Amino acid sequence: MAQHAGYSRWCYNWGLSLWNAAYTDGYKPNARKLREVFTNHAKPLYPWMKNLSSRVYQYAFRNLGEAFKRFFKGLGKHPRFKKKGKHNSFTIDNCGKPIELNGWNHKLPFIGWVQTYEPIEARTKKSRQAGDWYLSLSYEFTPTSTPKTTEVVGVDLGVKTLATLSTGVVFSGAKSYKKFENKLSRLQYLNRNKIIGSANWQKAQLKIARLHRRIANIRKDTLHKLTTHLAKNHGSVVIEDLNVSGMLANHKLAKSIADQGFYEFRRQLEYKTQWYGSELVVVDRFFPSSKTCSNCGHVQDMPLHLRTYDCPECGLSIDRDLNASINLRDAVGSVVNACG
Ligand SMILES: [Zn+2]
Repeated sequence: MAQHAGYSRWCYNWGLSLWNAAYTDGYKPNARKLREVFTNHAKPLYPWMKNLSSRVYQYAFRNLGEAFKRFFKGLGKHPRFKKKGKHNSFTIDNCGKPIELNGWNHKLPFIGWVQTYEPIEARTKKSRQAGDWYLSLSYEFTPTSTPKTTEVVGVDLGVKTLATLSTGVVFSGAKSYKKFENKLSRLQYLNRNKIIGSANWQKAQLKIARLHRRIANIRKDTLHKLTTHLAKNHGSVVIEDLNVSGMLANHKLAKSIADQGFYEFRRQLEYKTQWYGSELVVVDRFFPSSKTCSNCGHVQDMPLHLRTYDCPECGLSIDRDLNASINLRDAVGSVVNACG
């Protein structure tokens, strides 16, 4: 990476000094001419350049050309030399193809495998102006404790809604991408009679794939918003240790659990609570959070179709998920107190 950044800086500075010299001699340089001189006369003199991606110098000269364009239009200062340590960057691309970023390990063209601290789910996009592909990644993060508005929060993950918090805050998961899901099933339906492999079929497949990605992105975004909200604003976050494999055996639940990504939810909470100075408390999966009255402790069966908890003992009538989240919050009162 450092070599490529050095290469990029070297080319930019070389181009700039040549540009300046040519200009004082009465020539009108441009990025294309610089590149020609470089490839024909300068590059052969430096064998080390052969080991680095040629996209780097192409972009360096293009950037220099753009900088001069801005300067001539009065939009920017005269381009200056880049300094080591201050300008450690370079641009490469995948020769027209997008770069897929999935998880922690990414294969970058020419650079090879790199590992990121945080998983990244992204696909480099095509730039409209230049007609090329680029990826910009800037990442630095220092964990800092944030002020907490609530000491303890219980979180009930649900089927109907993504999460219900004991504070009354509700994160509805499915709503945001419901309309796209409807669109998706419509597209799949319309595609049913197309000949597989035909141009029309391929077009439709691309549309379907895009929609899939869009839905996945919305879902990821919602989950991140939820876990960030929890870790940032609450001293302790109490969740249930869900027996996901047992629940997946139930087909009705399977889809929505897979959808909501419970594992991912817990994983995000684990690191985000560390980032923001809160703690994650996981309650035993046999804790009857749904069946217990959060007011008097009465226990009764609560089949899934019952959306409201009606307590025959104390008369409490409360949303099923909210009741469960309050139980989770209260379940660890002693634990929390012990930790101060
Ligand atoms: Zn009760």
